[in-house]
Amino acid sequence: MRFSVRQGPLGQCDRCSRVYPHKKLFKQLEYAGERLIWNGFLVCKRDLDVPNPQSNPFIPKNDITVVSNPRPSSYYKGTEFPVSQATVLDNLSRVDFGIKS
Ligand SMILES: [Zn+2]
Repeated sequence: MRFSVRQGPLGQCDRCSRVYPHKKLFKQLEYAGERLIWNGFLVCKRDLDVPNPQSNPFIPKNDITVVSNPRPSSYYKGTEFPVSQATVLDNLSRVDFGIKS
């Protein structure tokens, strides 16, 4: 890092490589979630970008949470199968499948 007696320490802009007084270089911020973080770049005022809000990812509120090891509730409380096999076969015999013998 160079030093100027009149302006103090000098720094180089990370974008345009021009040399400025270090105190005139700015931290380039960007969105990380809902907050701003420094991306490690020191840039001059001319190259300083306004953080783009579109790079802030949308995080839905009250999102459905995943339940691990879910157990379905039992909808049928009876002891027998709700539809007997005879009923199923009876209903199938009434269906016209369009097959002629
Ligand atoms: Zn610059």
